[in-house]
Order: sequence, then structure tokens, then C-alpha cells
Amino acid sequence: MIRFNKVLRDIKTYEAGKPIELVVREFGIDAKDVVKLASNENPIGTSPAVEKSIIANANKAHLYPDDSMYELKNALADKFDVKDENIIIGAGSDQVLEFISRAVLDENASVLMSAVTFAMYEIYAKQMGAKVLRTMSYEHKYDEFMEAYEMRKPKIVYICTPNNPTGDATSKDEVLKIIRAIADDTIVVVDGAYMEYASAKDKKYAITPSDIMEFPNVIYLGTFSKAYGMGGMRVGYGIAQYELIKELYKMRPPFNISTLSLAAAIEACKDDSFIEGSITLHQEQIKRYERFANENGFTYIESYTNFITYLFPEHLDATHISDMLLKRGVIIRNLTSYGMNAIRITIGTQKQNDIFFKNFTEVIA
Ligand SMILES: *Cc1c(COP(=O)(O)O)cnc(C)c1O
Repeated sequence: MIRFNKVLRDIKTYEAGKPIELVVREFGIDAKDVVKLASNENPIGTSPAVEKSIIANANKAHLYPDDSMYELKNALADKFDVKDENIIIGAGSDQVLEFISRAVLDENASVLMSAVTFAMYEIYAKQMGAKVLRTMSYEHKYDEFMEAYEMRKPKIVYICTPNNPTGDATSKDEVLKIIRAIADDTIVVVDGAYMEYASAKDKKYAITPSDIMEFPNVIYLGTFSKAYGMGGMRVGYGIAQYELIKELYKMRPPFNISTLSLAAAIEACKDDSFIEGSITLHQEQIKRYERFANENGFTYIESYTNFITYLFPEHLDATHISDMLLKRGVIIRNLTSYGMNAIRITIGTQKQNDIFFKNFTEVIA
């Protein structure tokens, strides 16, 4: 019998949002009738300019990408007013999370995060045998973080703002207050996967990489998977002082994003109007979800992201409702495994949202 590393005993495999193909297979629903609002993808799709650049580069699929990723780093450096040397590219920001975990964690270490947050922080920590500490609230509260930090001196502190899967955000002032109180032998990760939505909604929540560049132990993470509509291309980035980035580079495999992904991300950096259009649609459509909740007596968490979390009263069961929606071809995220009787719905296009409301109304009736 194979004896796997003992750290694996304690790891639950990450459960991704259900794919459209599964609903087609299991329930015999036509793929075009399936509405997927489960993985926080951009409902508009991929920007036409990005799509064009992927096609234009298809004849380079036999070539490894430029491993320096010079052009992409340059584009990001311009966008965020930092230097190329401050940037590391990952196959999704997930891969940067993995680099960070492997660079500093071992079986004596711990990591600190909010009560309900991105599931991969825990998985990467446990892969290294490290302990996972959580605060009491899903919101990132200074007092709660400080209490746990001072007691246990974790090697990594995660600040996910806006937070997934809850949708709330932490103000820039609160984030900086936490960062300033943490000594520089602990890495603070500011995960801004949904920052484009928060910045557009309220400047108080807008955090940019340059806000954290003065701190040697802080890294800002961003991704092309959400607002940029490129989840399938797997490109993300980390931005920090060179001394930190240099160490993370030692964890990076060569050519860690594909030639096509690299071309797509470079093009995406030039395409601000796509982001603006995506945010405008989102801001219109999320109002419908807020109105629906108010009219039907649900509580929701004020969202700074491209999804909304509905909290259910006791007589409604999130698992049951998610299953019933799935059978009707509507995929949303059940948050029961996070200890919440709640569902998370990615805000779709107008038409997708119409279909969601029609089915949801019937299911809860
Ligand atoms: C989606 C997401 C990521 C990373 O996504 P990638 O596709 O790996 O770039 C990171 N953090 C949070 C909170 C996310 O929701």
C-alpha cells in the first residue's frame, strides 16, 4: 500500500463550481439552457480583443512562452506604477499563493485568516503541514486579527478583500492598520481578486499595489480570472518588494503560463473599456439581486464583488435549494460547507439573471 504524506490525511480536495458539462450529462439539459452562476466568471465572456490575440497566436503553440514574461510584466508595471522586478506571474493567482506557502511554511508554522474565506489558503497551508488559525468573524476585523496574531505569531496572514465567498470588503484604512501592526517576519497577503469591483463601488475600499509597496513583508495578489474574463487562461500575479519576489521565484517552474495565456493577458492589459463595460453591466444587475432579497425578506451581505451571498432563514435549506436549482440547469454555489446556510450567486447577464429569478422564485415557493 502506498504511504502518502501524512499531511494529506487532513486535506479536503478543493470543490470547484460545478461545470456546465455535468448538468448536461446528469440531467439531460441542453448546454445552451444551462446558466452557470457559480464560479464568479465574467458573464459577458472574453473581451473580443483578447479572443483575437489568442487566435492570432495559435500558430505559436509549439513554442514555449517568453519565460521572462517581459511584456506582461511591463504592462502590469505601467498599470500599477511599480517596477518589473516587483512582479511575479502565476498560473492564476492561486499559483502565487502556492509559491508563498511553500516559501515560508513548515510543520511548525501557522497561518491566520478570517472565519470564512478563500478555501485554497487552508489547503496550501495544510500541504506544508502548517496549522490553520481563523478569526471569529468572516469580516476582517483589526482586533480579532491582532489577538490571534499576538498569541500565535503566524507566518502568513491572509486579508482577502473583497472577501470570497461572502462578498464583503475591508476598508483600506483597516487593512493598513492591520499591516502596520504586524512585524516584518510575517507575510501579509492582500488578495485583491475582486478589487476591480470594490474600487468601482467605493474608493474607501480601493487598494492598489502601490499602497503596500513600502512594506517589505506584504504582497498584493491580482488575477485575470474575474473582471478580466479570463478564468480559462489561468493568469494571476503577485506584487511586492523585490527581496520577497526574488525568493518566490525559486518556487516557480519554468514556463508556468502558456504561450496563449501570456498573449491574452498582454492584450487584456490594454483593454480598459472591456473592464468598464463589465462593471457597468454588473452594477446594474446586482441591484436586481438586492431588490429581490428585500422584496422577499432575505438577508444578503452587501457585496463589493461580482457575486452576492444570500443568507437563508432556518426554514430554507441551502443544500436543498442548490440541488433543486441544479436540476433546473441553474448552477450556483452552496455555502453549507463553509458553515453557512447560504448561497453565493455570481451576477450574470440580464438574461441569465432573469432565468435565475424565475427558477429561484419557483424553488422557494
Ligand atoms: C478566484 C480567486 C483567486 C484566484 O483565482 P485564479 O483563477 O487562480 O487567479 C484568488 N483569490 C480569490 C479570493 C479568488 O476568489
